[in-house]
Amino acid sequence: MLEPVSEAECRRLTVNVNCDFQIVVDSRLNQPVNAFQSRDGTGRPVITFTLALIADARNSDELAFVMAHEAAHHILGHLDRQERNAMAGALIFGGLASATGSTTTLESAQRLGAFVGARSYSKDFELEADELGTLIAARAGYDPLVGARFFGRIPDPGNRFLGTHPPNAERFQRVEQTVARLRG
Ligand SMILES: [Zn+2]
Repeated sequence: MLEPVSEAECRRLTVNVNCDFQIVVDSRLNQPVNAFQSRDGTGRPVITFTLALIADARNSDELAFVMAHEAAHHILGHLDRQERNAMAGALIFGGLASATGSTTTLESAQRLGAFVGARSYSKDFELEADELGTLIAARAGYDPLVGARFFGRIPDPGNRFLGTHPPNAERFQRVEQTVARLRG
C-alpha cells in the first residue's frame, strides 16, 4: 500500500522525475540498521532496507514510516540538491583558500568545503523528509506517530555541529506538528 501512495505523491509533486520506486533488501547479515535512497543507472529510485532494520522494526507502521521517509527524499530531490550544496561549499571554501595561498591548501580547503556543504544542509533535508514522509504514511493508512517511534530506538545524534541527522526529539516533534496539521 505504501508503494502506490509514494508513487502517486511523487507524480503529483514532481515533473520529469522517475517515480517508479524499486524496493530492495540488502540481505547481508553484517550490515547495520539502515535504510537509504539511491538511483540506479537509469535514474530509477531505489529504496534499500538492511535485514537488521527489518528485524528491528516493531510493526508495519514503523517500516512504512521509514519507507515513506526515504521516498520523500527522492520526491524532494535531495540527492541532487545535496550534490549542488557540496559543489557550492567547495567553491566558497576554495575561493577563501586561493586568496591566501598554495595549491595544497586550496585542495584540502575544497575537500573540507565539499564536506561542510554536503553535511550542513542534511538536517533540514531530514526534517523535510520526515514531514512529507508523515503525509505519505498517513495517506497510505499507517499511523505516522506510531511509525516515528522508531527514532526513539536508534542512537540519537544529539545536536552536534555537522551531524547529518537532527536530534530524534526534533524529528518526532516535526512528525507531531505535521499530523496535527493533517487533522486540523
Ligand atoms: Zn533521511
